[in-house]
Amino acid sequence: MAELTFQTLAFREKDSFLAVDLLQAFSTKIPIKELESIAPCKIKDKHTLAFSGISQEKAETKFSFLLAKYLPQLKTKLTGNKATYVHKNSGIHLIGNVAFGIVYRESSIIEIKPVTSCNLDCVYCSISEGLSSKKNDFVVEKDYLIEELQKLIGFVGEPIEVHIGVQGEPFMYAQMEELFADLEGMENVHTVSIDTNGTFLNKEKIDCFSRFKKLQLNLSLDAIDKEIAKKVAGTKSYSIEHVKEVIAHAAEKMPKTPIVAPVLTQGWNENEMEKIIIWIKTLKKQPILGIQNFLRYKTGRMPAKTEEISWDDFYQRIETWEKKHNIKLKLSKEDFHIKETRPLPKPFQVGDVVKAELICVDRFPGASLAVARGRTISVPQCEFKEGKKIKVKILRDKHNVFVGQKIS
Ligand code: SF4
Repeated sequence: MAELTFQTLAFREKDSFLAVDLLQAFSTKIPIKELESIAPCKIKDKHTLAFSGISQEKAETKFSFLLAKYLPQLKTKLTGNKATYVHKNSGIHLIGNVAFGIVYRESSIIEIKPVTSCNLDCVYCSISEGLSSKKNDFVVEKDYLIEELQKLIGFVGEPIEVHIGVQGEPFMYAQMEELFADLEGMENVHTVSIDTNGTFLNKEKIDCFSRFKKLQLNLSLDAIDKEIAKKVAGTKSYSIEHVKEVIAHAAEKMPKTPIVAPVLTQGWNENEMEKIIIWIKTLKKQPILGIQNFLRYKTGRMPAKTEEISWDDFYQRIETWEKKHNIKLKLSKEDFHIKETRPLPKPFQVGDVVKAELICVDRFPGASLAVARGRTISVPQCEFKEGKKIKVKILRDKHNVFVGQKIS
């Protein structure tokens, strides 16, 4: 009898398949017939498979082959979009892509991105993420992310903030608490900030996170009116009452005062901003309020009825509300203590032609991800063929985020 237990995988039987959930939000399936070809198999508990009449070692090897065969069929459960698991043995580097892994912009804030995908569909989303997204997703192995981050922090050599700013909702990542615990223990990390829509949080989770002294929650709140909040969030299931409860509780319990960051989006929630200020002022302990201006991005959503508000107009509104409600609303760079840090060498630069190998699909359909010299390179309009060697002309190299054009 052999027993295989996995912390990050959960098993269930579905028709003639073994459904394998990876970190709760992602799933693939293995035909039972192929599983049984290893040896007779039973699901012992959610995380454990028991094989009879086979040695532990053989079962481990054979099952890992089977898993590797079906992992490329991984999907995001919420949307059905294709997903890629980025792990230590995947060959996918964590520096090079803006959507997952690590982004270092030569400043004392290092961004980490363990996951993509979102449970909302906000009208103003600057990356068009959410329930209607058709993009491919990524999910990164926690230990791999921590290991690579540690190397980078060692290179930077001074205290930094780690910012968990993902393309989507970070609490889609099932190991967020474990990630917080690892980051909390890192000596040269003074702050761990995270942008979240708050929907996956609740009082119990906040109580549990309150042990993390470095954790800074940045929460979205775009309206007080229930119906307007649902419209802005792009889904009827959104509950502003729940998010308000989370914000109020977090303001009371978290050691670092949370930031609430509404996005002022013309035609959708202009009249909600003052209501938000008034509500925040009723709280026993107030979070910091930092109203943001909606900006159009090339890859973002273009909500109907919306024009960008000019910066003059925006700051005028902010000043009026600051005076009227006696509250600070304008957050500046200084509030975040950002400073320039040591640049990370780039293994190649704009104009270079690089030999690279295709490793997986990229975020946008029709694009592939290539790897070379410890970095990933996004290659748009390049059909993915596993392991194919290509030549890429580098078109972008800023902050070690690389985009290239396939030339052969
Ligand atoms: S919660 Fe954030 S990532 Fe999700 S749809 Fe809204 S703006 Fe986009």
